[in-house]
Amino acid sequence: MKLIGNKDEFKNVWVYAEQREGELQKIALELVGEGKRLAEKLGVEVCALLVGKNIAGLSSKLFEYGADKVYVVEDDLLEHYTTDGNTKVISEMIDELKPEILLIGATNIGRDLAPRIASRVSTGLTADCTQLDIEAETRTLLQTRPAFGGNLMATIINTEFRPQMSTVRPGVMDPLDPVEGRTGEVIRITPKISAADVRVKVREIVKAKKKGVLIEEAHVIVSGGRAMGGPEGFEILKPLAERLGGEIGASRAAVDSGWIEKSHQVGQTGKTVKPVIYIACGISGAIQHLAGMKDSDVIIAINKDPEAPIFKIANYSIVGDYKEIVPALVELLGEKN
Ligand code: FAD
Repeated sequence: MKLIGNKDEFKNVWVYAEQREGELQKIALELVGEGKRLAEKLGVEVCALLVGKNIAGLSSKLFEYGADKVYVVEDDLLEHYTTDGNTKVISEMIDELKPEILLIGATNIGRDLAPRIASRVSTGLTADCTQLDIEAETRTLLQTRPAFGGNLMATIINTEFRPQMSTVRPGVMDPLDPVEGRTGEVIRITPKISAADVRVKVREIVKAKKKGVLIEEAHVIVSGGRAMGGPEGFEILKPLAERLGGEIGASRAAVDSGWIEKSHQVGQTGKTVKPVIYIACGISGAIQHLAGMKDSDVIIAINKDPEAPIFKIANYSIVGDYKEIVPALVELLGEKN
């Protein structure tokens, strides 16, 4: 590893603004918002990186969501994401422009790209962060992520090398409220890239058929756990979810038992959700489940065991059998209309 020389030369918070086929991904806006919060603490700017072809038009949305500057890196060779192309152009920009922090989404693309850049520029990387902050005295980025199977949260720091790099789990950070008409500086970068630099040629993109649900976007989630006892347990929850215009979630125990698809799983190895209402039915409240839903606005827990840990974070606790309570709730809701 090379030492970085003078840490003070490194300035500004960068975020990788992931786009696919010219469409800005939600994670880009989440990272711009988080980057802005960090940048304000450091007294610097948040700069978004757009890499691709014909993507400069996405800058305006990034500004509205908080970016101060947008670096637009366009080239025919960058039309499709490739590890080689993105690693080369971003690493060279880091060498030249020296950001203090670089945030990348922990998406399939981000998980591929971030370690390659970190290795190329000889710095550290903390993967899958769920919380970020700044230690004021040292300007160090405090990078928090679940460790040891989610049984504790570890805060990792990089004292020696710059930039400080993290990948951040999608759905964890809140984007800022957009300010219509907010603008900033667009800086066009002409990348030094040739066909020989990109060893992978993208010939065709075949989209996988969309399977599963997008519980991350639901306003109401009714989740079932091991107490469902089989797929039939989820049939009891469905009328409640439908009545509330929500989706069905599940604990890992229910998914591992094969009662419901993995796309419904909430938690550390499932999805992170923040609905307006989260109703946990027959879920004990293991830390790995809480990791995925604890930031919901209102949590309602239904559990037979009054000591169940889920009640510690619930706003409303209902002690009893979900098989009786859920149909009763559906009936109540029915009576109201
Ligand atoms: P249990 O813990 O068995 O709880 C069932 C609950 O149902 C009990 O509280 C019981 O009182 C209640 N109950 C029983 N019958 C009824 C009834 N008729 N009416 C009402 N209540 C009833 N888990 C996740 O959920 N998501 C993850 O992403 C995840 N990732 C993990 C990653 C790692 C590395 C590890 C080690 C574990 C992970 N887990 C995850 C598993 C987690 O530790 C728990 O084992 C799991 O969440 C338990 O699921 P559960 O609450 O449905 O089951």
